[in-house]
Amino acid sequence: DRMNSLMLNTDGVQIPQLGFGVWQVPADAAAQAVSTALKAGYRHIDTAAAYGNEEGVGQAVRDSELPRRKVFVTTKLWNADHDRAEAAFDECLARLGLDYVDLFLIHWPVPQQDRYVRAWKAMEKIYRDGRAKAIGTSNFTIDNLTRLMDETDLVPSINQIELHPYLQQHEMRAFHEANGILTEAWSPLGQGKGLLSDPALAVLSGKYGKTPAQIVLRWHLQLRNVVIPKSVTPSRIAENIDVFDFILDAEDMAAIGALNRGLRIGPDPATFNLV
Ligand code: NAD
Repeated sequence: DRMNSLMLNTDGVQIPQLGFGVWQVPADAAAQAVSTALKAGYRHIDTAAAYGNEEGVGQAVRDSELPRRKVFVTTKLWNADHDRAEAAFDECLARLGLDYVDLFLIHWPVPQQDRYVRAWKAMEKIYRDGRAKAIGTSNFTIDNLTRLMDETDLVPSINQIELHPYLQQHEMRAFHEANGILTEAWSPLGQGKGLLSDPALAVLSGKYGKTPAQIVLRWHLQLRNVVIPKSVTPSRIAENIDVFDFILDAEDMAAIGALNRGLRIGPDPATFNLV
């Protein structure tokens, strides 16, 4: 069903597997987009301090008729704030107008800055205080995750990474699975660029009577990825959650598997150091 949830390694916390991403949604359009998503059945919103739209996200969550515990809200610590994670987290909560978030992520490791271990220790405190129900990472490499696990107490509950049929991240997914970390896919539709017009997806679209975007999202779900497609178009917001009434068979999962080409659309986490 549309609420299908996965267990995080944090006791009792579940994350709805399909969420709504709001990167590049302008601040003044965010409340409207998130309201549309909540009405369409989404119960998980992915924002970040860096997206500049936490106010609109929080407003839509607060204005919805839904009890707070029925909506899973993620936000992220920006790169410039690794040294002041607790203060930056308070600022996120204030912008959201919420008294907790469900998931707080370190947005990027910025290895050149070498402050993510310190940031993680502050996140552990935020988690212990109950102000983030779970904590995790984004764009962490195997090296970065290994270092956190060596030097701190808590294993991240999730690592959010670029992942779509053109960048399937087999090594990262295997590492996550071996360590009880969920894999969350960002740009799950490849940002709607070349991927969605791939001829292989057109074939599957005809076979299942589903759009290429729906085929790709279904592939993610069957791999047990958490997935957070973004759209501001109401018809696409509805389309992207209408993926729970069909199953790709093994042969078709393999056909999508064959599209992998190691193609990154976003920055490489090993070198991304914007602050
Ligand atoms: P996406 O893969 O979700 O693609 C979104 C774009 O695809 C839309 O802008 C639209 O042009 C198109 N699209 C959406 N639905 C469609 C449909 N049904 N049919 C045809 N085209 C459609 O890309 P994204 O926004 O980059 O990623 C999703 C979310 O992931 C973001 O909003 C954000 O929350 C998160 N994200 C996180 C990071 C990170 O560093 N952690 C980086 C990028 C994105």
